[in-house]
Amino acid sequence: MNGPGQLHPHPGPAAQALAADAVDWAAVRADFPLLAREVHGKPLVYFDSANTGQKPAAVIDAVDAFYRHHNANVSRAVHQLGSEATEAYEGARRRIARFTNVRPDDLVLCSGTTFAINLVAYSWALPRLGPGDVILLTRMEHHANIVPWQLVAQRTGARIEVVELLPDGSLDLDMLRDKMTGAVKLLAVTHVSNVLGTVNPVAGICREARRRGITTVVDGSQALPHRPVDIAAIGCDFYAFTGHKMCGPTGTGALWARREHLAAMPPFLGGGEMITEVRLDGTVFADPPRRFEAGTPNIAGFIGLGAAVDYLDALGMANVEAREQELLAHFNEELRKVDGLRILGAAPGKAAVVSFVVDGVHAHDLATLLDLQGVAIRSGQHCAHPLLQWLGVTATCRASLAFYNTHDEIEAFVAALGKVRRLLA
Ligand code: PLP
Repeated sequence: MNGPGQLHPHPGPAAQALAADAVDWAAVRADFPLLAREVHGKPLVYFDSANTGQKPAAVIDAVDAFYRHHNANVSRAVHQLGSEATEAYEGARRRIARFTNVRPDDLVLCSGTTFAINLVAYSWALPRLGPGDVILLTRMEHHANIVPWQLVAQRTGARIEVVELLPDGSLDLDMLRDKMTGAVKLLAVTHVSNVLGTVNPVAGICREARRRGITTVVDGSQALPHRPVDIAAIGCDFYAFTGHKMCGPTGTGALWARREHLAAMPPFLGGGEMITEVRLDGTVFADPPRRFEAGTPNIAGFIGLGAAVDYLDALGMANVEAREQELLAHFNEELRKVDGLRILGAAPGKAAVVSFVVDGVHAHDLATLLDLQGVAIRSGQHCAHPLLQWLGVTATCRASLAFYNTHDEIEAFVAALGKVRRLLA
């Protein structure tokens, strides 16, 4: 964190608008078969992509083709199907690595962010932390980036400290700087908040942490689906992400880690695939990343995720980001016209995640009635209880957009909201 320029590296809206025009977004939307369906007799408006993203036909077809034509286990059988499955699976690892600008061998494939962060907690942090050490978190973390650290703290005697937020939902960077003391061994921070949409300046944060000898874990779950992410350029120690939010199948994700960490970490789970030799008196573990990939992986899922990153790559993540910013600007403009609606989170450059509350209406009631109008949003606490406590609300509605959404859907959403409020009046 050496200067303001490095803390807010988001491209301005003008630069983004140019890129957004480069794509035929109606054609893109047509790639997503599910978006054509109706719900309760109304055209679906899917505004829940921060929860899970919809899948383009290319991903569905890749999974289908694997099971129809190539299904076999990986890294075991010498037969033709076995080598086809292994090549497709390892090919997916290479594509995901290219998409995030890292080396395939530094990418541990796993079930998602939750698994990835637990792997760091158990395999990296447990053996290293002790009484007096501090784990630094932020107020805006998802439970997946809080609870594993609490488990580590309980077992090691380390202490958790929290960096608070500014009123607009930005991270308090001054407080973060002050809290990066010599006692801090690990800093866990989300790249993008799943509730506020705040985009944290993770490259600057990780640079400063590294200068102070603090190991960094970045939760990229809400970043990779929506903006260009160059993990190598961020300069963190660990970067976790989940495939199902970025057009890929559920049960897929990855942990990227610096080579030196992976080389020094003991296995997390034991079993097949993660060894080179097993004797009854001891085992020789495989090199990373396979050392951390015990058992049969989600082969079809990763082949689907490989197709998903190819799809996103072809769209261009700068275009995706620009499109979503354009939708967000329209959405904010429409929501501002709704009486009694309060948006939570207004950090500059925020992502297209809009949490809100409406006077006199419970979030679950609103979401349930919107569903009857064909509109899918999330309501509740979004796996972020500490953040909701800070916001002073027991639940929020959250509308989260993706590049496949449309301006018409924004209008339909606002019309549905008006109808629901008239019903409740
Ligand atoms: N971190 C953030 C910011 C998230 O939004 C989510 C999912 O909602 C997760 C972590 C957990 O991801 P998963 O359930 O795929 O492991």
